[in-house]
Amino acid sequence: MRFDLITIFPEFFTSILSHGVLRRAISGSLVGVEVHDLRNFAHDRHRTVDDRPFGGGEGMVLKLEPLAEAVESLGIAGKAERNEGREQVVLLSAQGGRFTQAVAREFAGLERLVLLCGRYEGVDERVSELLCDGELSIGDYVLSGGELAAAIVVDATARLLPGVLGNEASSEYESFGVADDPAVAKTSLDSGAQGGPPSSVHGSGGLLDYPHYTRPPEFRGLAVPEVLTQGDHAAIRRWRRERALEKTWRNRPDLLPGAQLSEVDRRFLKGLGWRG
Ligand code: SAM
Repeated sequence: MRFDLITIFPEFFTSILSHGVLRRAISGSLVGVEVHDLRNFAHDRHRTVDDRPFGGGEGMVLKLEPLAEAVESLGIAGKAERNEGREQVVLLSAQGGRFTQAVAREFAGLERLVLLCGRYEGVDERVSELLCDGELSIGDYVLSGGELAAAIVVDATARLLPGVLGNEASSEYESFGVADDPAVAKTSLDSGAQGGPPSSVHGSGGLLDYPHYTRPPEFRGLAVPEVLTQGDHAAIRRWRRERALEKTWRNRPDLLPGAQLSEVDRRFLKGLGWRG
């Protein structure tokens, strides 16, 4: 998959692309990320890409022409002819639809994603009309620019691509994992008697992940839950599932109606006070 990022601050992405999973994905050619300086598409000697808003008011607005030329320079199909299942152009905007794990999964099925980073008061509205398949917000707050948002979209999407994470299960079975995955049914509370060592699959199905612990077993009086150190695989599965249910109920009860829950899961949640 290839990402194209259009920005007035290309250096912003240097650090993000040169660490951890993203760096490895790029150096292993699993992901391509090209950063394009919007100012290269300006036409005056000051490389101007912004202008005052029509109608008056505070601040500056990113101009349409440089963004149009920047997108066109990528050789991507025009909006009318574009196959949105293969390539998309998206504007980062506080006014956009919400970026979620489901959107990241959809993006991970594309061959190419072009992300336009706004600045100042935003971008000329015709950018969206003329060039974009959608506007995307990373949350209900206002950032100073689209670069941080674009970095989040690239990171969350790239880690879902085949081969990017060493262990495929680590993206499939974590918080916000796919709710209708049949494999998840095996992980519900009533499967506690299953044999074999527990893997990392017990918190997904639309729930938040269960808590993780590593050595030392005790630090300043805080001990690791005993069940995790005793080698009873069925008990570990049950404990992990319960903690995932509990954490989702406590922190994100809005996720429960969409989660894949067994009858035993439901009974457990009702015991916590859930009315679902
Ligand atoms: N006037 C705009 C508004 O009230 O919606 C805010 C503009 S903001 C200061 C500048 C740029 O930051 C936007 O054009 C957008 O690209 C980016 N941005 C700000 N908040 C964002 C968010 N929550 N998600 C994605 N991009 C955001």
